[in-house]
Amino acid sequence: MAMAITRTPLFDVHCHLQDNRIVDTAPSLIKAATKAGVKWMAVNGTSEADWEKVRQMSEHNSCIIPCFGLHPWWASQRSKDWLSKLRCMLQSVPCSTVGEIGLCQSIRGREVEESIQVDVLRQQLELARELERPAAIHCVRAFRSLQGLLEEMGSFPAGIILHSYSGSPEFVKVFAKHGAYFSFSGFNTHVKPQKARRIWQQVPRDRLLLETDCPDALPQVDDPTALFWVPGDPAATAAVPSSNSDCCHEEELHSKSAGNGRGGIGKGALNQPANLRAILSHVASLLEVTEEVLADAVFTNASTLFSFPGSKLVDCS
Ligand SMILES: [Zn+2]
Repeated sequence: MAMAITRTPLFDVHCHLQDNRIVDTAPSLIKAATKAGVKWMAVNGTSEADWEKVRQMSEHNSCIIPCFGLHPWWASQRSKDWLSKLRCMLQSVPCSTVGEIGLCQSIRGREVEESIQVDVLRQQLELARELERPAAIHCVRAFRSLQGLLEEMGSFPAGIILHSYSGSPEFVKVFAKHGAYFSFSGFNTHVKPQKARRIWQQVPRDRLLLETDCPDALPQVDDPTALFWVPGDPAATAAVPSSNSDCCHEEELHSKSAGNGRGGIGKGALNQPANLRAILSHVASLLEVTEEVLADAVFTNASTLFSFPGSKLVDCS
């Protein structure tokens, strides 16, 4: 690979290695990530159906941080005792965090009634606070509702992550006051640089995180040869006419970044944690800092957030 490996390790704070599209190749993807300097990967569950897979992945891999949560897209399919199952999972796996949870008003997200989404999010945030674990929040076009909920609920001392942050620069200030961290994902590389700079320059440097959100969100970079491709992914080598992902972030961010002259090759191809270095490089140039300085800051931020009692980071220090 063309990219130089810097000395500072990386931390992928949000990915989905348990996803059916990549779960079979996960062992080799974890190896590739480790080789590329990604020391930790927080694997986020999305529904009751995948929590056990996430738990097992964490048991077999010391670099995996397991996260359990009910994503808003799946909120209406929850079982009667979903919350007690979630509590049980979080308590029996002390190194786990809460996620992916949130609010989604994309076309896909609107299929689930907003009141259900808010209710399910509130209960999971309460659980995160009670168990003193960080929580990863997905928020698409619902920042005002999220603001209302956080104002009503009070503080979250263990921290919250606004993953793949797609809000305005003004909302950065609002959520920073609530102690939020802001995570830059592969999707965010699709936003025009001028606009992205306006948003990400507002993020306090001690609240900035990086993530791949794989297998979605293949980063858009100038040099596609710098990317890692998932073995056997047919979209990896072909130029795909338009996005074949049903992810709401992609739908939103792609439409806004159309015609910026980059990308196209491998569009719709699967993403993996080893691509975090390409995201680091993109954010470093956006914020006009060196990769080394940025890597150092984001690793420190992620380590602070993920060093809760019971965490694998605490165990191995
Ligand atoms: Zn996600």
